[in-house]
Amino acid sequence: MLSQKNFSPQQLSALTAVALSVPIALGIFVFKPVWWIALIALVVIFLGSFALIHYTLKTFIYRKIKLIYKLIYQTKASKREEFYYKNILPQKGIDEVREDVEKWAIQRKEEIEVLQRNETYRKEFLQNLSHELKTPIFAIQGYVDTLLNGALENPEVNKKFLTSTSRNVDRLVNLVDDLDEISRLESGEQLLYQQNFIIQDLLKEVYETLAIKAEEKEINCIIKKGCEQPLTVYADKEKIRQVFINLVDNAIKYGKQNGTVESSFYKIDGMTVLIEISDDGSGIAEDHLHRIFERFYRTDLARSRKVGGSGLGLSICKHIIEAHGQTIHVRSKIDVGTTFGFTLQKRKD
Ligand code: ADP
Repeated sequence: MLSQKNFSPQQLSALTAVALSVPIALGIFVFKPVWWIALIALVVIFLGSFALIHYTLKTFIYRKIKLIYKLIYQTKASKREEFYYKNILPQKGIDEVREDVEKWAIQRKEEIEVLQRNETYRKEFLQNLSHELKTPIFAIQGYVDTLLNGALENPEVNKKFLTSTSRNVDRLVNLVDDLDEISRLESGEQLLYQQNFIIQDLLKEVYETLAIKAEEKEINCIIKKGCEQPLTVYADKEKIRQVFINLVDNAIKYGKQNGTVESSFYKIDGMTVLIEISDDGSGIAEDHLHRIFERFYRTDLARSRKVGGSGLGLSICKHIIEAHGQTIHVRSKIDVGTTFGFTLQKRKD
């Protein structure tokens, strides 16, 4: 029982003082059996040894402990805290100090892990970024060199090469815009301008914006039967427009020729509306699904087909939806199709 107890320095000193004074007082009583002499000896030895042991403990052990605390708490203590540490900390038992140090060690380990993860992320980010920049820049360089080396005078190819150059410049501009957007979203700089609006109306506008792209692949963009009843949500309309543009654009890009892009809208409880965008295209393999929202992540299929954009679109969508305090998810099967779903808060009165 004694070994389990977490003694304070006072208790420890008192116990040791008792252990010393009682046998000595008994010894004195044996040699000189006068009870008051033994009692005085007991009291004097107890008080003397208590003071000495307590002082030694405080000076040699708790000073060291204080040093440990100085090391693990990096912030400098104010006068008030200094008083607190001086008077309260020495009350801590060795076990509590051990717990504090262990807690500190775990905290440090976590901090180091976060730093290591950030470092890996930074390396990957730079690699991906330079890769994404290289492709359009090299293409532009190639076209410009060819034009300067004589193709400019050839009316059959000069327009074609300039059009390709312009397409690659657009790609660079899109990439920079996406990077700008993502860094603003990540820094939490952007405020949400939330308002009530009918979600189906916004989707119809996006369908119209992307109509030419859909027609090129003869894709039919529709709203699922039974989901036409207008649902009002409370969100940042322009940001949700951006989410729709990314999701519908992907559904068309990775959708099959002559296929369908279908959107559905459901009230899932009194508070939330679920929005889903489905396509019947190439689908995403299961082992890619959990990484699909990462920056620059693209499936091998998207890379080899060269239909993809910057690989930042879904990551931007995730940021926007999470900034609304909502969630986004994906379900997909190769050659069957993909469904992206996200929730929004229903109208606010
Ligand atoms: P990207 O600009 O390359 O389209 P995104 O972040 O929008 O970047 O998408 C990341 C990757 O997710 C895409 O490159 C593609 O591999 C995959 N993906 C996204 N949407 C779909 C979809 N509807 N069907 C199949 N794959 C998709």
